[in-house]
Amino acid sequence: MKSYDVCECGAPLRLMERPTPKPTGTEVLLKILAAGVCHSDLHIWEGYYDLGGGKRLQLTDRGVKLPLTMGHENVGEVVAVGPDAKSVKAGDRRLVHPWLGCGECAMCRRGEEQMCRTPFSIGVFRSGGYADHLLVPHPRYLFDIGDIPPERAAPLACSGITTYGALKKVGPALQEEPVVIIGAGGLGLMCLSLHKAMGGKAAIVVDVDPVKRDAAKKAGAFMTIDPAAPDASKQIINATEGGGTWAVIDLVGASRTAQLGLDSLRKGGKLIIVGLFGGDITVPTPSFPLRAITIQGSYVGSLNEMAELLDLVRRKGVPDLPVGTRPLAAVNDALEELKSGKVVGRLVLTPAA
Ligand code: NAD
Repeated sequence: MKSYDVCECGAPLRLMERPTPKPTGTEVLLKILAAGVCHSDLHIWEGYYDLGGGKRLQLTDRGVKLPLTMGHENVGEVVAVGPDAKSVKAGDRRLVHPWLGCGECAMCRRGEEQMCRTPFSIGVFRSGGYADHLLVPHPRYLFDIGDIPPERAAPLACSGITTYGALKKVGPALQEEPVVIIGAGGLGLMCLSLHKAMGGKAAIVVDVDPVKRDAAKKAGAFMTIDPAAPDASKQIINATEGGGTWAVIDLVGASRTAQLGLDSLRKGGKLIIVGLFGGDITVPTPSFPLRAITIQGSYVGSLNEMAELLDLVRRKGVPDLPVGTRPLAAVNDALEELKSGKVVGRLVLTPAA
């Protein structure tokens, strides 16, 4: 089988060839039909998260090992199954839930494998979909996509489940008050679409790039805001009731976006941080009780949430995230394109095309 692997942080991915694995036990082998290129792959490729103040969290310290085949937004066609893999057969097309844990701890037994202390996420801690084949350890990670085109289903595995999980954290106010979404990239435009599908009242979208703000407007944003404007938080406060917004979903997670989110909250409001661009913030501790605010992190989603998301998609339609396809061999160009900020929506690699 062929794959494109990170062999050295920041250096072009290298074409590797190794024997195609034969599934044993509960394993399932898929031929990759579509693999989304997420901004998290840029962080993994670069090899660290920016912790602010010149500090870095090295991914190797988190257990990421090179060479690594990245790619965690995958759809594939089942080509072989191990003797104990029930419920799938050759020819089935499946979305792969990549957020694997040890499968044995209390969190994993509850289906919250993304919270496992020893994660085995596909494309992060074990081989992912920047390849022509992918070995998945158990059919429970495979979800039927019906007749959704593979390149449109693939982003659901990360962009979809992550923003679905973040939107759920807003609570019932989602249907009653505007929500602020910071970042209108692959996650942001997906978030906007799912917000609509979940009956969200209105979304105010913040992005530094006028092209992305335009895309958000076209996708139904009630208002878009340039965070570089000196009165950005005032614009948000003026557009919402009660002296600020109930919820901000920060899909960038930089110092400035988190600060803008905090400054825009009303009393009792919630800042949900998803993005991993990095940085840090200082929050005066009296703000927590006096403003009764919450800062909450949100990390991908659970197996149950994947099932809920697909149910939502079946009822409300496939999110209208703009998707561009590229051949697998163009993976380095796709990563560079995303890094340059030129991608509107998601790029998806299509090895079998
Ligand atoms: P993307 O590159 O597709 O989009 C990023 C968007 O943010 C772009 O539109 C860009 O113009 C905008 N942006 C950049 N800096 C900004 C700023 N200072 N203010 C406002 N807008 C700004 O990236 P993506 O795939 O949507 O991923 C976004 C982030 O979310 C990445 O850091 C990624 O690693 C992270 N992520 C987190 C999770 C999680 O579970 N927590 C899951 C997936 C991705």
